[in-house]
Amino acid sequence: MPATPCIHHEDCNADYSCLICKKDHCSECFHVSSGICHSCIYKGIILIMVIMVILSYIAWTALL
Ligand SMILES: [Zn+2]
Ligand SMILES: [Zn+2]
Repeated sequence: MPATPCIHHEDCNADYSCLICKKDHCSECFHVSSGICHSCIYKGIILIMVIMVILSYIAWTALL
């Protein structure tokens, strides 16, 4: 079985694959307990913030 290198670190073996982007990651760029890579966590945080802004905007317009 050939070892797949991490997409971010060519000299590291990809021991994990992300549940969201399905890409191979090493332990350095992967959040093991959630099964999601760091770049997807970052994207998720941005997405949650955008949803929060939209929801607060809807709440404001509903109040006025
Ligand atoms: Zn990912
Ligand atoms: Zn890596």
